Amino acid sequence: MNPVDQVLQGSFPSVMVPTREPVVPMSAPGERLLIASNGVFIEIDRPWIRLVRRLGSFSWRTPVPYGKAADATEVRCGAVPAELVAGFARMARAALPNEVGAWITWNASTGAFRLLPLPSLSHRPVHLQYERPELQAGEWLVVDCHSHGRGRAYFSPTDDRDDQHDVKLALVLGHCHQVPSVALRLCVKGRFEVQSAVPERWKAALATLAAEVV
Ligand SMILES: [Zn+2]
Repeated sequence: MNPVDQVLQGSFPSVMVPTREPVVPMSAPGERLLIASNGVFIEIDRPWIRLVRRLGSFSWRTPVPYGKAADATEVRCGAVPAELVAGFARMARAALPNEVGAWITWNASTGAFRLLPLPSLSHRPVHLQYERPELQAGEWLVVDCHSHGRGRAYFSPTDDRDDQHDVKLALVLGHCHQVPSVALRLCVKGRFEVQSAVPERWKAALATLAAEVV
C-alpha cells in the first residue's frame, strides 16, 4: 500500500465488529470506522467523551456477516459546572452590544473545568472571529460558547461553518441584557444534535442573573 494510505489507515482505521465479543476499545484519542452487519459507524474517542454514530446502512442486508454496532454516547468528564456557564453569561453581558466567545475546557489529568475567554479578532456586533487558544497538556475543549448580544440564541449558517469539524458542545446565549436565552447542540464532526433540554442547573444559574440586571 502507498505510504500515505498506510498512514491514513493507521490514523483512521476501519475495524470489523466481531460477532462474539465487543470490539476492542480504542487505545488513544481519535476516530475510526466500525464495519458492522447493520451499517458503517464512526467511533470518536476523546478523554471527555466517546461517541458512536451510524454513518450509513447497506442497500441490502445479507452480505456482511459481522456483529452489530449501536449508537452510543458516553460522557466521561461529568457535568459541566453551572457556575462556569453563568460566568460566561456575565462576560456576554459585560461585552454588550458586542458578541463574545469563551471555551469551557476539561483537564483529563486533573479533572478540573475552566472558563477560558477568547481574545476577539474583530469586535463588531455582527459576528465574532477569534483565534483558537492554546490549551494546557491534557486539556480539552468541551463547550464552545458565544453570545448573540441582545439578539436571540440560535445557530446561524456561520455557526454551522465554524462548528463543522469539531467534537464539542456548542452553546449560544442570546438576550444577554436580561436572563439569557440558550441554544445548545452536540457537534460530532459535522453532525449537529440540538439538545432541546438544557441542563436544569444551567437554567437555575442563569436565572439568578436576573437579580444582577441593571
Ligand atoms: Zn452565533
